[in-house]
Amino acid sequence: MEAATRTESPPLESFNPTSGALLGSVPTVQPEEVAGIVDDVAEVQPFWAQLPLADRARYMRRAAQVIIDDLEQLGELMAREQGKPRNECYTMELIPTIDALHWIADAGPDILAPERIPYPQVFWKAKRSRFSYEPLGVVGVIAPWNYPWSIPFGEVALALMCGNGVVLKPASLTPLIGERIRWVFERAGFPLGLVRTVHGGGAVGGALVEAERCAKIFFTGSVEVGRSVGVACAERLKGCVLELGGKDPMLVLADAPLENTVAGCLWGGFANAGQTCSGIERAYVVDEVAEPFIEGVVRGAQALRVGDPLAWDTEIGPMVSREQFEIVAELVHDAVAAGAELRCGGPVEVSGFEGAPFYAPAVLTGVTHEMRIMREEIFGPVVPIMTVASEEEAIGLANDSRFALSASVWTLDRARGERIAERLDGGSVWVNDHSYSHGAMQCTWGGEKESGVGRSHGKFGFYECVNIKHIGWEPSWAKQFWWHPYDRSLGQAMESSARVLYGRDDDKLGALRKGAPALGRVGRRLVKDALRRL
Ligand code: NAD
Repeated sequence: MEAATRTESPPLESFNPTSGALLGSVPTVQPEEVAGIVDDVAEVQPFWAQLPLADRARYMRRAAQVIIDDLEQLGELMAREQGKPRNECYTMELIPTIDALHWIADAGPDILAPERIPYPQVFWKAKRSRFSYEPLGVVGVIAPWNYPWSIPFGEVALALMCGNGVVLKPASLTPLIGERIRWVFERAGFPLGLVRTVHGGGAVGGALVEAERCAKIFFTGSVEVGRSVGVACAERLKGCVLELGGKDPMLVLADAPLENTVAGCLWGGFANAGQTCSGIERAYVVDEVAEPFIEGVVRGAQALRVGDPLAWDTEIGPMVSREQFEIVAELVHDAVAAGAELRCGGPVEVSGFEGAPFYAPAVLTGVTHEMRIMREEIFGPVVPIMTVASEEEAIGLANDSRFALSASVWTLDRARGERIAERLDGGSVWVNDHSYSHGAMQCTWGGEKESGVGRSHGKFGFYECVNIKHIGWEPSWAKQFWWHPYDRSLGQAMESSARVLYGRDDDKLGALRKGAPALGRVGRRLVKDALRRL
């Protein structure tokens, strides 16, 4: 009866943004089915969690081999479904996950092994303690479309290494790649049902957040949705890691290595057609080098090859959707209307793909911080450049944003670059490069301000996927001195201990003399208690 009244979910179709062709479809679920899927994963997870860390590590290496064996097909699918140039499918998505799986396998067993906690405190000397890193159960991963492989893949793999099961909700623009993530783990021999995907729109993601047995959410996406996910998690007292929008600044100092700085700006601003949370969205260049830097970036942007992402020499593919294209075009239009100068780039037709959302790399100068282009996330191939009088001004402007994901400083003076890095807001600051460390799983990833909460890579990413449990042992030779009964001696002994152990050196002897009778009484009581038990 129940089956007859259930609504059948229509499949989710996926289209090639370049050609508009239908690529395939995946089955979707109704939001009310999600909790049941989480429950199913929760049934499988305890078996996986029993495996020793070294064995889980072996599975991680096997998953890496599955990717290697299928590298070409995966790269092609990614280029077709998301529009990223084929080389970037390798450099920014696939190879980093292979490397990540190996790092997780190599470093995970040490990071997650029980960790002894020393007791320097004299009164706790007999105790033994350790941290035990225990799986949370089922972790929910909600993914964006811009890095539909590497972002969720890393989070899923970290969660699995910690002994969790995972329910993954891929972005609805890139469901085929999302399915391939589940497939890799199944193919590598992970228990069937340990990693499940749920496809659908925002309501399916919302249902995952609400599912009772989903212990924690890793969400990557927009600030607006991330905020609502954070609120929903808080209402359920559930943890979440939120990886949200960015507005990365690049600071170009007078001694920047100019050729690399220009090339780095072109890559950091235009890779993945600018649809990168940590893409360069603002460049601040000091007066002294402004002219050659701007000239270099404009010339370089004009030379980038826009076209079919499947062609090996394409550098800029289409935007993922017409909607994303319109957002970018509107922001650039707004800046130009407010007085900015568009030095190159804009909407462009690519022969053979008429009507596809191609946007040639754009460079804007004459921008001000009042313009929306300098305050809102562009998420497209546009680099606005501002000339500044000093590095102090650049630091002030860089930090003048509601976002703080990451930033870069370009200078050959390492100490100066790192000093500036310490003053910039954000979760990562690079000197003479940008973004790359998302591809190095041992580094942390995450932001400050509206760019998010928590960290999703590195040892801190592991710690986000576990219940950090303190387990303490007491040999029970005697009653603890702070247990009942209470009397004046205990208080006096405490006062003098505080001074003797932590006070000024000059006061220690006096405190010991003054507290000796009380310390003696408390000590005798403990010894008597211990002897009585022998
Ligand atoms: P989005 O917020 O629209 O969607 C992200 C995911 O959330 C999708 O899977 C979507 O289906 C799901 N979702 C939508 N509504 C939901 C709800 N109410 N509850 C739960 N899930 C819901 O973001 P997007 O357009 O896919 O991605 C682009 C954004 O992601 C940009 O702002 C970008 O900066 C950000 N991003 C951040 C990082 C980072 O590491 N900080 C990385 C990549 C992308």
